[in-house]
Amino acid sequence: MSTPFNKPFTIGAELEYITDAVARGHLSGDGHYTKLCHRWLEQKLGAKRALLTHSCTAALEMAAILCDIQPGDEVIMPSYTFVSTANAFVLRGGVPVFVDIRRDTLNLDETLIEAAITPKTKAIVPVHYAGVACEMDTIMAIAQRHGLLVVEDAAQAVLSEYRGRRPGAIGDLGCLSFHETKNVISGEGGALLVNNPALAERAEIIREKGTNRSKFFRGEVDKYTWVDIGSSFLPSELIGAFLWAQLEHAETIITQRRRLCAIYREALQDPADAGRLLLPQPEPEGLAGNGHMFYLFTRTAAERPALLAHLKAAGMHAVFHYVPLHSSPAGQRFGRSAGALPVTDDLAERLVRLPLYYGLAGEEARGIAAAVRRFFENR
Ligand SMILES: *Cc1c(COP(=O)(O)O)cnc(C)c1O
Repeated sequence: MSTPFNKPFTIGAELEYITDAVARGHLSGDGHYTKLCHRWLEQKLGAKRALLTHSCTAALEMAAILCDIQPGDEVIMPSYTFVSTANAFVLRGGVPVFVDIRRDTLNLDETLIEAAITPKTKAIVPVHYAGVACEMDTIMAIAQRHGLLVVEDAAQAVLSEYRGRRPGAIGDLGCLSFHETKNVISGEGGALLVNNPALAERAEIIREKGTNRSKFFRGEVDKYTWVDIGSSFLPSELIGAFLWAQLEHAETIITQRRRLCAIYREALQDPADAGRLLLPQPEPEGLAGNGHMFYLFTRTAAERPALLAHLKAAGMHAVFHYVPLHSSPAGQRFGRSAGALPVTDDLAERLVRLPLYYGLAGEEARGIAAAVRRFFENR
């Protein structure tokens, strides 16, 4: 028997809805199912406007255009994130400025943001790591004080909570992912949440190849034409149909993932109490996560490959996560660090993610935790 790290799944009427989309005779973007997804995201997350995209990467690229990033403009973000967070802004000539993360959540350390702001700073991009929200009240206040835009990279945080609100629906813009490794999936897929009403009209135009086609379909103009820069950022109805079936069961998916996280945590509490490994802090009050990820830290960087090899030999596929962007070749070429990043450098070398997906049985999670415990027994 072997346990993969991730396993894509269907949970409801995905295939039925795809068949229905074909029968409806509309397979390009913004048909019946895409509209259902838009309404769901707006209502459940509290976003002013939701627009499906073909990935979170695409949503971030739209966000960079909407922030009007010009060559040399600086964008503050963590180094401990996926490449798309930075790449989207670099495509516009922007300069990622990497700030260190908090030890408890691995999120952007909000106390270090102001020192990284220069006259060239245009935006702040908090990344909600593992689905636990950044300190958005503080980040929004800093942005307001300095006239900056906030783009949330909420790729991992669909349906997480932040003090009664939803990540992605708090900043000027929020970017979500429905990639098959995320909680709610459509293979590839994403969404841009537009919370700042001043950006809504331009967002539609950028997503429709720089045309006012959306206005035309609503009957607001009598012909459509090229009015701005843009690209084709909208997904086909096939993606919308698959995603709609998943959104109908989003709460069930998240409940199951949170349950698996709780199983892991409980089973690993003893070795953590004995100081053999480190677990992340339990979620702070008001910051319920969505069970996106379960990770632990080895005590030393050298111990990590040994643990991964031990699990692999038992047929269990655990993985590490990001190579920090400030130490990647492109990160060094296109970005810069705001001072040293000691927490990023330290934690990135010791983090281990355990298998976590909707179809993982509780018993399997207990088996994986038992294998982790065995590794640490004599250490
Ligand atoms: C997955 C992920 C992305 C990219 O999402 P895609 O939908 O694959 O483009 C961006 N940022 C973070 C933090 C992610 O985890």
